[in-house]
Amino acid sequence: MPTTKAYAAQSAKTPLAPFEISRRQVGDHDVLIDIAFCGVCHSDVHQVRDEWGGSLYPMVPGHEIVGRVAKVGRSVSRFREGDLAGVGCMVDACRTCPSCARGLEQFCEQGAAMTYNGTLMDRATPTHGGYSKQIVVDEQFTLRVAPGVDLASAAPLLCAGITTYSPLRHWKVGRGQRVGVVGLGGLGHMGVKLAAAMGAEVTMLSTSRAKEADARRLGAHEFALTTDRATFKRLGGRFDLLLDTISAPHDLNAYLALLKVDGAMVLVGAPPAAEPVEAFSLIGGRKTLAGSLIGGIAETQEMLDFCAAHRIGADVEVIAIQQINEAYDRMVRNDVRYRFSIDLSTL
Ligand code: NAP
Ligand code: ZN
Repeated sequence: MPTTKAYAAQSAKTPLAPFEISRRQVGDHDVLIDIAFCGVCHSDVHQVRDEWGGSLYPMVPGHEIVGRVAKVGRSVSRFREGDLAGVGCMVDACRTCPSCARGLEQFCEQGAAMTYNGTLMDRATPTHGGYSKQIVVDEQFTLRVAPGVDLASAAPLLCAGITTYSPLRHWKVGRGQRVGVVGLGGLGHMGVKLAAAMGAEVTMLSTSRAKEADARRLGAHEFALTTDRATFKRLGGRFDLLLDTISAPHDLNAYLALLKVDGAMVLVGAPPAAEPVEAFSLIGGRKTLAGSLIGGIAETQEMLDFCAAHRIGADVEVIAIQQINEAYDRMVRNDVRYRFSIDLSTL
């Protein structure tokens, strides 16, 4: 099997370091992609450091992948050599269960094949992600990337973009609605851009006073500091939808009080530990506390097309792969504006 250069974690306690992996031969339905950029998601940090449990090593993270098609299998019809292409959080699913039939491959009843820290549908072959030079993916799980887009900024759309786009669509966000985005990081900054582009009135709820000017530049109509208790009084009962992207444990009850009657708070942030939710936070006002996981393949394509039409990309700091461990530390210290994007030509 052909090999490719990569960066891998060998355990939860060791830094990422150069590693060689094999990629399968290009099958009839496969696309071989030369990876140009890969975004750095907080989920990469959670999984490399085994904060969710069950991590598989060696682990080559990365599920915000864009690059150029280097080769296609003989049955491939949607891609040609030289095309731009993207890969997100999944590389396969059973394709037949009720969830897959609805285009919700992320909820595949057999468990989707995640791009890394997982296995293919044979449940034996480990998957390795985008901190590498090349990847081979079935064309059904490969996304089209519009020519002319900035690739470093497009990469984070494959996770941060779809993870915020999908709940905004599911809860039918649009003009006349008040949306609060909680936490201004990689997901949060995409949430602000997308909710504003869909016509909603957007408030950024953040612990970082220093991000106010950025929040407004990204499209937020208002900024509210959540370290100030007065914010929770002032904004009580205000929002139709709250999109919570916070990566660390926090008090959900305080945020639920900011919803209108029939409002919903959607968790996309995945902190390793839980905080208790009071029944009374939901009962008064018939409120919904929900969650959302990335988005299906068709919806990911819809999001990429929406972003291309609205000229939306992530705000990125491009890094060399050799800076990845420092980037993780900075992300945990809340020092990223607003996504690291790895330039794989440095590998
Ligand atoms: P990120 O760039 O690190 O952003 C997280 C933001 O949360 C920070 O910028 C900060 O915003 C806020 N925050 C961090 N620690 C906090 C604390 N202790 N209290 C309050 N606020 C805090 O991370 P990301 O890549 O956007 O990912 C966010 C979370 O979503 C992670 O848990 C990740 O695993 C998860 N995720 C879920 C999905 C899904 O499908 N559901 C997909 C991708 C990622 P402020 O400075 O503005 O307060
Ligand atoms: Zn992610």
